[in-house]
Amino acid sequence: SGGKPSKMSLTTQIMLAMLGGLILGVIFNKIGSDFINTHIVGGLFAMIGKMFVNALKMLVVPLVFFSLICGVTGIGDIRILGRVGGKSFVLYLTTTAIAIAVAIILASMIGPGKGFVMDGIDTSGVTGREAPTVWDVFAGIVPTNPVASFANGEMLQIIFYTVILGVAVLMLGRKSKGFVEASEYMNEVMMKVVGIVMAFAPIGVFCLIAKTFTEQGIELFLPVLAYVVTLVLALFVHLFVTLMIMLKLLSGLSPLTFMRKIRPAQIFAFSTASSNATIPVTLRCVTERVGVNNSVGSFCVPFGATINMDGTAIMQGVATVFLANVYGIDLGLGGYVTVIAMAVLASIGTAGVPGVGLVMLTMVLGQVGLPIEGIALILGVDRLMDMIRTAVNITGDAVVTSIVAKSEGKVDMAIFNDPDAGILTS
Ligand code: ASP
Repeated sequence: SGGKPSKMSLTTQIMLAMLGGLILGVIFNKIGSDFINTHIVGGLFAMIGKMFVNALKMLVVPLVFFSLICGVTGIGDIRILGRVGGKSFVLYLTTTAIAIAVAIILASMIGPGKGFVMDGIDTSGVTGREAPTVWDVFAGIVPTNPVASFANGEMLQIIFYTVILGVAVLMLGRKSKGFVEASEYMNEVMMKVVGIVMAFAPIGVFCLIAKTFTEQGIELFLPVLAYVVTLVLALFVHLFVTLMIMLKLLSGLSPLTFMRKIRPAQIFAFSTASSNATIPVTLRCVTERVGVNNSVGSFCVPFGATINMDGTAIMQGVATVFLANVYGIDLGLGGYVTVIAMAVLASIGTAGVPGVGLVMLTMVLGQVGLPIEGIALILGVDRLMDMIRTAVNITGDAVVTSIVAKSEGKVDMAIFNDPDAGILTS
């Protein structure tokens, strides 16, 4: 290739890698060669893809720790901290509830799964999960052993501990100067480490996408096409209508500019199907491209990746309507209100990792008395749906983060209005 790859922005490179991976995956899927499937895709591509996702996850805990320490000390006032926490919590829950309510209404209007023929689908071997109670979820936020929380990547516990630590540092005032400076330095170092890992994104993304599409045949989609179409429609309505109206109304920021700024994070979320692994990219996008101050971003982004899952909630809504139709069960208004409450609660208690939506769905179905084996129907298409809903999840995180930041006067409009801001464009 005699082009000028060094002149191409990283985002463009990653998008081309996605496209290339998609085309190659579809071709490999059509060829269906055992050698390609086991050695090239299942071996080499899987290895590189795994390395890349591992590398992203490797960044999450130290990055969140140092940027959150800097965030808390940067805010400098415990009352503002409480306000940011309160606002983001309420907004996260509200967006999730709106997301699933709209999804249920849309799905009820479209009616996917009516007259479904359950031929040749193996529904054995799906086991359900009990939903945790609200009390358990809240009790679990306080860690007994912070070292274990860091080691296991328990995001809510890490946030809780780090915020307390940051507050204590604030209370010590001038004595903490050395620690604060060291944390600021470490935060900068971690940002550089993120940059190093992201330089490998084109190849990582290429392998992940090629692998997914080699494994996903179009045949998987046909029996549940109505479900897929309804779900994707509901996800797009939330992404392009609900979230953008909220952004415009509550922050006044331009949705078009915002969408362009947040695209790299969406691409990473789509490729990895994990909000958690995407935290480093989401954080860099909102701070360096949207212009959100780190004092707000460092708290709201990891918080949102854990408790806010709009796309996942939408999937719960559409899947319940679909399965209710398939089994000819009428859930009634009460049933759907239960689904909304369950999905919002479950999204607080569960981490943003691949496939979590399905686990949540077993809880939701169990709660409203739908057969859990029904999940087998949508299992085959879930990976691709997971990728799309994760992109919606992190967009919701970024929207709420920006709204909260704007309300606190913590968005740098010079950065927001600069199309070239942030390392991802150069
Ligand atoms: N993969 C999603 C996320 O990380 C969760 C899910 O819907 O499975 O946000």
